Amino acid sequence: MHVTVENEPVAVVTCHCDFCQRRTGSVFQVSAVFPDARAVTITGETKIYNGLEVKGVGTSNGDEVSYHFCPMCGSTVFWTFEGRPVLAIAVGNFADPDFPAPTAELHTPYRHHWLEPVAGAEQFKGFRPG
Ligand SMILES: [Zn+2]
Repeated sequence: MHVTVENEPVAVVTCHCDFCQRRTGSVFQVSAVFPDARAVTITGETKIYNGLEVKGVGTSNGDEVSYHFCPMCGSTVFWTFEGRPVLAIAVGNFADPDFPAPTAELHTPYRHHWLEPVAGAEQFKGFRPG
């Protein structure tokens, strides 16, 4: 599958919550937020898993999130939110070391002790308000 974006993301966000750790198999996730999914072109097949059987705080914010996985490599490529046009793409898919740095970090109490906060990123103990 292939994802093409036309604009820069409006936000780049890390989430340190236990759900994102278990979902990604990493110690945090990084997502690029695009406010209008119509500006994102996705070709190829994805597998959607809703209601992942993974416990964690990330499952309790009330959003119905559809995680789209690549059927070839199994990576979470992007996710969508029911009733909202916003789409988030896992930044690792761009494999671009010059990608914009995170502007916000969520669920910071779950951050692993050896990680430093990202300089200049807003820090939130839970979800970002609004
Ligand atoms: Zn999370």
